This record gives sequence, C-alpha cells and structure tokens, in this order.
Amino acid sequence: MPHMFVPGPVDVAEDILQAQTHPMIPHRSKEFEEIFHRAANKARQLFYTDHRVFLMTNSGSGCQEACVRNLANEKVLSCTNGAFSNRFNKMATSNGKKADKVEVPLGQAILPEMVAEALKKDNYELITIVHNETSSGVRNPVKEIAEVVHRVSPDTLIAVDAVSSLGGDKIEMDAWGIDVLFTSSQKTLALPPGLALCAVNDRALKKAETVENRGWYFDFLLLEKHRTTNSTPNTPAMSLIFALDKQLDRIAEEGLENRIARHAAMAARSQEWAAAKGWEIFPPEGYRSRTITVLLTPEDFVLSEFNKAVAPRGMRLAGGYGPMKNTSIRIAHMGEIHLPDLEDLLSALDEFTA
Ligand SMILES: *Cc1c(COP(=O)(O)O)cnc(C)c1O
Repeated sequence: MPHMFVPGPVDVAEDILQAQTHPMIPHRSKEFEEIFHRAANKARQLFYTDHRVFLMTNSGSGCQEACVRNLANEKVLSCTNGAFSNRFNKMATSNGKKADKVEVPLGQAILPEMVAEALKKDNYELITIVHNETSSGVRNPVKEIAEVVHRVSPDTLIAVDAVSSLGGDKIEMDAWGIDVLFTSSQKTLALPPGLALCAVNDRALKKAETVENRGWYFDFLLLEKHRTTNSTPNTPAMSLIFALDKQLDRIAEEGLENRIARHAAMAARSQEWAAAKGWEIFPPEGYRSRTITVLLTPEDFVLSEFNKAVAPRGMRLAGGYGPMKNTSIRIAHMGEIHLPDLEDLLSALDEFTA
C-alpha cells in the first residue's frame, strides 16, 4: 500500500523495484540498445509528442540546465512563482544568460496576459515555465501561455518543466506548440530518482545549432547523435531504464487517460475535503494542481505530531515549502497513490484533528 504523500521520491511498486535487478549488460550492446529504444519510444505518449524523448541520467534540475544552455545565446524570460521556477531562472543567470522575470507571489499563477506584456517590451530567445509549481500547488495555464507566445513572439522557444505533473496531467506538447518538455523519474512517474525524460522538438534542435558553449553533458545535439543509434554519450543509469521500460507498460495497462483522470479525481477529492473541513486551499480556483494539493492549516495543527501519529501505518505527509513550512501542508497524490489511499490519509487527518 503506497502511503508516502510527499512530492518525491514517491512510493515505487514492488515489481518496478524488482525490474532494476536485471543483470548488467554492456550498454553498447544490441540487447541494451533494444530496451533503450523501446523505452524512449513508448515514453513519447506521456508527452503527446511525435518528437524524440531523451532519456538522461540526471535528475529534473539537469533538464532545466540543458534548456538554458541549448536554447539561448543570451536572453531568457523566466516565469517565476515559486521555488522550482526560481531555480529555472537561476539556471539561466548562473549559466551566463540574461534572464528577466515575469513574477507573481507564491500561490499565484502566471497569466497569459502578463507574458504577452513582457514579450511586447523586449525580445527573448527562450521562455521558461514550470507547469506544476510543486512548492505552492499552483498549476500554470501552459496551453494559454504558449498560445500567447506563438502570437506575440513566434520565434521565442518554449521550455516547460513538468517534473511533478507529467504522467498525471495532460500536457500536449505538439498540439500546444511546446519546444522542450521534461520530467524526472521520482515524482509522478513513480520510479526511483536519477533519470530524466526530456522531449525535444526539431525547432529546438535547430536553435541549439546556433548556440555556443552548450557544454558536453547536456548538449542536445550530442544526445541526438547518440540517440539515433539507440545510445547515450555517457553511461546511462541502466537499472532505471529497465524499470522505466516496465513502468511504461504498467501505465499503458492502466491507460494514460485513466491515469490522468485518477490524478484529477484525487485533486478534486482533496479540495472537496478541505472545503468541508474549512481549511483554505492555497492556490486560487482554476489554477490548482492535479498532483499536489496545498492547504493552509489551523494554528494548532502540528505536522510533525501528525506524522508521528501516522508513522505506525507507514503514512507520511509533506509540510509547506520554505516560509510556509509550519503554516501549510502539501498532500502529494501522485504516482502509485489511488483514491482509497487518499481516503486513508484524509480519515487520519480527521481523526487527528477531532
Ligand atoms: C522536484 C522538482 C524539480 C527538481 O527535480 P529534481 O529531479 O529534484 O532535480 C524541478 N521542478 C519541479 C516542478 C519539481 O517539482
């Protein structure tokens, strides 16, 4: 029974843990190349893309770095409304790019009109957006933002971090015109940490050809060169790729659309419970995550005490992020968590606060 309601690393199914015990084989062998190809090919459905998916041996943050190094010589526009979108901005500035911000406070969403305004004022090669701000539970309207970018500044590339939502929420890369979309293994995909999946379209690769100092480890062009022979420039985290191959079959068995609906149902149930309980939901209506629900807690609610009380049942709940550590909780309902598991948690919260 999965019971860790924390935003990664999440519970991993037993047979997926087992899949990692596949014996080692040379990574430059027909046998591994076949598995690599199969996994990367199947992964495309998660992104709703016909483009390539790079399987990268790094956590999600590495893909943020890859985006700023490959997609901009100089100027980036960062949409920031929380810890992970601010990290994306830091990736740009610490790699020597000039990065302006479209910024709103924690708990608020980035709106398309804010992006339009910024794009009218200046030229940007790349815009970075976090789809699901794990720190606040805000789901940014990526489809509408992408529409605005295409209309106001069609040459600007769009990179989207969906580390805590892809596989539990519908993000249609090709239909929405996203150039790079990525996630990592240890959140909604319910795998152990250490692997990232990064979908990159042709326009992004073309742009990379014009960008200098892309580095080596995250160079999209080098990754593409090796990918076309079902390989990677460096030694990949093979055990995680064995697990991914199997997990993608499990996702297909459940049905991706069903999996997405399951996450939406858990978000709806968490919100309904909070409303009945009188606990405020942090993000405004219309901008609430499908994979993590952030609630403001009453003053006398002490999370460490709750976690102590439910530890014997193997349950664990995450606190708020940063300054909201003691004033909010984050219920991560992603990956292997199903509605009955969530009901267990909500009952435990009811009992604890009775
Ligand atoms: C967790 C998270 C990251 C960082 O991912 P790592 O795999 O820990 O590097 C980036 N963005 C979002 C939205 C996240 O939730």
